[in-house]
Amino acid sequence: MMRRRPLVVANWKMNKLPSESAAYIDKIEKPVDQFPDVIPVLAGQDVLLPGMLHAARGTNISIGAENMYWKDQGAFTGETSPAALADLGIRYVILGHSERRNYFHETNEMVNRKAHAALQHNLIPIVAIDEAIIPRNENDRSHWVVNQVIETFEGMSAQTAKTMILAYEPTDSIGSGQAMTPEIAQFALRRIRLTLADMYNWDVAQAVRIMYGGSVKPDNAYELMIQDDIDGVLVGNAALDPDQFIALCQIA
Ligand code: PEP
Repeated sequence: MMRRRPLVVANWKMNKLPSESAAYIDKIEKPVDQFPDVIPVLAGQDVLLPGMLHAARGTNISIGAENMYWKDQGAFTGETSPAALADLGIRYVILGHSERRNYFHETNEMVNRKAHAALQHNLIPIVAIDEAIIPRNENDRSHWVVNQVIETFEGMSAQTAKTMILAYEPTDSIGSGQAMTPEIAQFALRRIRLTLADMYNWDVAQAVRIMYGGSVKPDNAYELMIQDDIDGVLVGNAALDPDQFIALCQIA
């Protein structure tokens, strides 16, 4: 079985203040250094990013944005461009988080445009694939997920596709304290990998890193991360606490 380097990604969402981020990074920087196989990523609000990059300089912690627009520049008041993120030194960008889809009406087509734009600037997209609450039966849910994967990768070559990262996040599990069972999460991630194999080939399907997200904490992370297709975790609440982030990196 192919071993993909695991990621632990903290999604701080609209939490933490600029004055708080450096202390968090100071606290985790040495402990996470002990786990060189793991890629630790902290994603924060745009206004935190310069300070986070500054604090993480010289460490193995990567910094990510939580969103961006797909245009490089122009009259789009309030948006952030991929060019600006790349210029700042950002490495990852979360795209299509379910909160973006549900509260800000992002569609698969918009996420696809953003993914192309990010890749053009050597930003690595972490595309969140959600499982909507609306479709109720298993067939509808499966179709919903497969369709998101297909539309996310629209117009992407096999070579480019391999650099993508996906995060499967069942909406019911986000922020609810109820993670999906490891077996069901594995089943869902396998379905995503098989979709990639259908769209491209097995080589691409094996290269794409797919994370699980939804109420991950140190208590349940091990059982999730030992599943064959789970290459890491995208974590909201638990990752607000630096000690829990360190524990998750150790488990990964
Ligand atoms: C998330 O929002 O991406 C997430 C997984 O949140 P939580 O860990 O709080 O469920």
